[in-house]
Formats: sequence, C-alpha cells, structure tokens
Amino acid sequence: MNIHEYQAKTLLAKFAVPLLKGGVAYTKDEAMDVARKLGSPVTVVKAQIHAGGRGAGKFKDDPNGKGGVRVVKSIEEVGASAAAMLGHDLVTKQTGPVGKTVKRLYIEEGCDIKRELYISLLVDRAVGRISVVASTEGGMDIETVAHQTPEKIVKQAIDPAAGYQGYQGRKIAFALGLTGKQVNNFVALLGGLYKAFVDLDCSLIEINPLVVTGAGDVVALDAKMNFDDNALYRHKELEDLRDVDEEDPAETEAAKYALNYVKLDGQIGCMVNGAGLAMATMDIIKLYGSAPANFLDVGGGATKERVTAAFKIILKDPNVEGILVNIFGGIMRCDVIAEGVVAAAREVNLHVPLVVRLEGTNVDLGKKILKESGLKITSAENLADAAEKIVKAVKESN
Ligand code: ADP
Ligand code: MG
Repeated sequence: MNIHEYQAKTLLAKFAVPLLKGGVAYTKDEAMDVARKLGSPVTVVKAQIHAGGRGAGKFKDDPNGKGGVRVVKSIEEVGASAAAMLGHDLVTKQTGPVGKTVKRLYIEEGCDIKRELYISLLVDRAVGRISVVASTEGGMDIETVAHQTPEKIVKQAIDPAAGYQGYQGRKIAFALGLTGKQVNNFVALLGGLYKAFVDLDCSLIEINPLVVTGAGDVVALDAKMNFDDNALYRHKELEDLRDVDEEDPAETEAAKYALNYVKLDGQIGCMVNGAGLAMATMDIIKLYGSAPANFLDVGGGATKERVTAAFKIILKDPNVEGILVNIFGGIMRCDVIAEGVVAAAREVNLHVPLVVRLEGTNVDLGKKILKESGLKITSAENLADAAEKIVKAVKESN
C-alpha cells in the first residue's frame, strides 16, 4: 500500500525524523488558511498524488506552466497555485500519459536548500536484510543515478539481530560529505527511519531529497512510504491512510474477494491459481505472440463466488479479447472449479473466447462438466496447448 507524502511525514514525525512544518488542504481556502498559519515568508504548494516526479511534472491543461511543486511568496499566490492544481490532471514520469487528478495539497514552509541528498531503506532480497541506499545526487531518480553514476551510490545492509548501529549511520554520513553536527543529526535521523521501517512493516521508505539547510540542519523534504500488504492486518491505524481514489478500482474490487490482481496492458485475461503458475501463464502467452491483460491469482481456495468475481473483473477491462483459465487442482478439485467457471461464464454473459486448462484432482470430471455445459468453452490439454489456443482464438476473432 502507498500513502501520500503528507501522511508519510505525519508518521515519520513520530519517529523524530526532522521535517518542516506543513498541513494538508483539500480546497483553495484551506490552502490559504494553512499558509497563513505557517506564516513563513516562502511557502511551497505540493500536489499530493501517489507518484513521484511532481516537481518536474506538467499539468495536462497547462503544459507550459509550472509543475506540481510550486514555491511562492504570498498567500494570494498560494491560492492561485492551489486553484491551478486542485481538480487538474498532473502528468509525471511515474503517472503515465493519463496523469493523476490532484485532490489534496500539502502546504509546507519553504526551505533554504544548500544540498540535496538521497536516502532510502528497502527490503534487499539479495542480502535478505533491510538495506540503506544513499547518494549525493538528491532530487534525481535513483534508477538514473544507478545507471549513469553508480559510484555515487552507497549501500549498507542492516543486521536484523543487531539492528541499526551508529557506525553505519556515520559511514553513510561521511560518504555523503556531511560534516560537524550534521553527522550526528543524520545518524539519529537514519535511526528514526529504520525504526519506522521495522515498526510499521514498510517495504520502502524513500527520502528524496534529504536536504542540508542553510542553517546546517538535515531535513527530510520529500517522503515516500510503501507498506507490506501482507502485514497490514497488524496496523489497523494505517488502513485509514488508504486513498482509494489513487488505486485502480479493479484492484480494489479484487482485494474485496482476496484475489491478487494486477492490471497489465495486453489482450488476454488470465485466471490462475497460484502466483507461480500465474507468472508461467503470462510468460507462455508472450511466447505465443500475445500479451497478458492482467496477473490474477485466485488463490488456493477458489470458490464459485471468487471465480465469478474474478471473471467480472477481467471482463470489465475493455482491452480483454480472450480469457485463459489455468487451474491446477491440488486441494481444489477440478470439478468444483469447472462448475464455478461454467456458472460464472453464464452469469457474466461471456462475449470473448474462453480457453480452460484443468489439471489435477478430478480432472476428467471437470472436463466433462465444461463439455456438457453447452457453452463455447475450449478445453486445453496442457499449458502450451492452452496458450496456443487462446492466442489463435483471439487472432481469429479480430
Ligand atoms: P517530487 O519528488 O515528486 O518531484 P519533491 O517533494 O521531491 O517532489 O519536490 C521536488 C523539489 O522541489 C525538491 O527536490 C526540492 O528542490 C523542491 N522542494 C520541495 N519541497 C520544498 C520546500 N518545502 N521548500 C523548498 N523547496 C522544496
Ligand atoms: Mg522527491
């Protein structure tokens, strides 16, 4: 799960991470109110969307105008910036060409920036630990830095048993060229980030930029936090931070039925049990010259209701031109799955080709149910056969 910058900052403040003062606003008037209360000579109006690159982004209706982070010097300008952003679509490197409609703003004190640095914490699969990634190139996206100047990135893995150690913070601080009191401030800040990461079951915390101010303070100027969805049940307080406006409605619907669904941009809808089998199915669709419209794992205990919900979600996607159901009946019996598929196909009034590959417990009975349903369902013998048949059926129906 993702949250907005202002929400991340509210959480990080509890971990003593140094931040600037600010407040959220949903309207122009609220934005001006917050700015008045801040009373700072320079104010920054920041669009709150679940995407980075806002500063360099452009509004669709004003492609030559300013982006989603605006530095202004009066309350009137705060109002004008708020009006130019709220309800308008911001396109950034991370939103795709459709952009995202700005519905919330963060109004923050202006900062006297001397240096912009980069710091993030992530689950580093290569070492099986949380790693800190830091760079002197703040404000740039880390992928670009990693590509062009990898020597400017430092990394430190943190031992989960020992926890974060001050020497590790100092090592990074020196690599970032911090001096004097900045070093200790940074060591404490990183300790706060690490504690937040562990306590809140994060999958990512990214501070880009972390800045050194004119007064020599180290401050988090931007904040991105992602949480491990599988641990959200331990953090009921985070549930309120979910912004469904920012999420794909199909993915929200899928979550209601405990389906793992990710929309993709191909033509073939996939319904599969098990994430590994789903990945293999997507691969083989590609191999046969088409592309998957989604990743969808209905899980081990796929009931008729869940199979029907999955079908509906797949069919709502206008790009779907055919569906491939690939189920391995282990604990699940193939006849139950077949009944679910038939019921779902009837209920949703299926209008695209459907290929079903069943394997495992009660497979013959399952195939019989599909055959006797009278529906236009093509049975497949194995994974390759299934992929070939659905790709062919979609080509022929075009
Ligand atoms: P994004 O990463 O989405 O572009 P940031 O919050 O990183 O958004 O802001 C982009 C840039 O805007 C920062 O790198 C910084 O230079 C500037 N900026 C952001 N917040 C402030 C602030 N409070 N005061 C001054 N400049 C800011
Ligand atoms: Mg940023």
